[in-house]
Amino acid sequence: MVALLTPLEAPVEPSEALRRIAFLLERTRAGTYRVEAFRNAVKALKEIGGDELNGHVEAGTLQQIHGIGKSTSSVVEEAAQGELPAYLASLQDKTGGPLATGGADLYAALRGDCHLHSDWSDGGSPIDEMVLTGIELGHEWMVLTDHSPQLRVANGLTAERLTKQIAIVDAINRGVGQAFRLFKGIEVDILDDGGLDQTDEMLGKLDFVTASVHSKLRMNSAPMTKRMVNAVLNPRVNVLGHCTGRLVEGSRGKRPQSDFDARAVFEACLEGNTAVEINSRPERKDPPDELIELALEIGCLFSIDSDAHAPGQLDMKAYGCERAERLGVPWDRIITTWDAERLHAWANPS
Ligand SMILES: [Zn+2]
Ligand SMILES: [Zn+2]
Repeated sequence: MVALLTPLEAPVEPSEALRRIAFLLERTRAGTYRVEAFRNAVKALKEIGGDELNGHVEAGTLQQIHGIGKSTSSVVEEAAQGELPAYLASLQDKTGGPLATGGADLYAALRGDCHLHSDWSDGGSPIDEMVLTGIELGHEWMVLTDHSPQLRVANGLTAERLTKQIAIVDAINRGVGQAFRLFKGIEVDILDDGGLDQTDEMLGKLDFVTASVHSKLRMNSAPMTKRMVNAVLNPRVNVLGHCTGRLVEGSRGKRPQSDFDARAVFEACLEGNTAVEINSRPERKDPPDELIELALEIGCLFSIDSDAHAPGQLDMKAYGCERAERLGVPWDRIITTWDAERLHAWANPS
């Protein structure tokens, strides 16, 4: 995977300039509202033709286009006139460098991502934009893991919506060709008893399952351990997502780790052939170092995931790589360094 996208230079298409600005804002966790303006402007440009756009540029009436505002109109105008938009130039200078200071070699060795969201659940962008950005960053595969029905606040997918999404993933795979594969997946809620929040029939139609606890995070240790052990022993489950549920910083505030017997859970991961996720989101840093060390000692596999909710956030895997490298996780035990064929065969043993 490439550590950095090559900075854009003039001349640049207006929509490409807007997309890159959104990407640079997302990877450095700018507020949704600010990013949305740029993503919406890309959509607006898609809907009008080149002649109409040029007409607005010449007449100075870009802001009359629905979805183009003050800051986005100057980007479009500068790009249409053959210049590198000033805002893009300054973002490339200020934030275009690597996100993390270590782990660059491991980042370059990554091939995929087992945890990311689209606007079908609580992500900000359509599936095809996640895929396009993923390909630009050098992903060979990604697993689309929108939320399951119980997570209503995140617009979790019912069996009916997941069925529709599966058809769309098939269509995207037909369109992108051999060099990239989008796997059908889910981030399924782990229910209170360790069951999964989707029918077995639906889970059987997916290539890959990431399972996470999103509710009753303060359960007592004994039932929480049982809950997680049950889930990771389920043959359908491939990755245990953000296992402690902690939040260490950010707009959602802090949240302590859930109480559970980590040794028992990781031993069950080993037995159940479930990888332990290293969730790269800076506000999660989950699991903490000492639990990664424990899982390492037990012999678990790991998955360095972005948990991206926007295309630019796919790049956050740099943070996970920095941690994994510092803690000495061997590359071959990180399933996101595997190629698509090996990943699929591992997740779907015959
Ligand atoms: Zn989650
Ligand atoms: Zn997630």
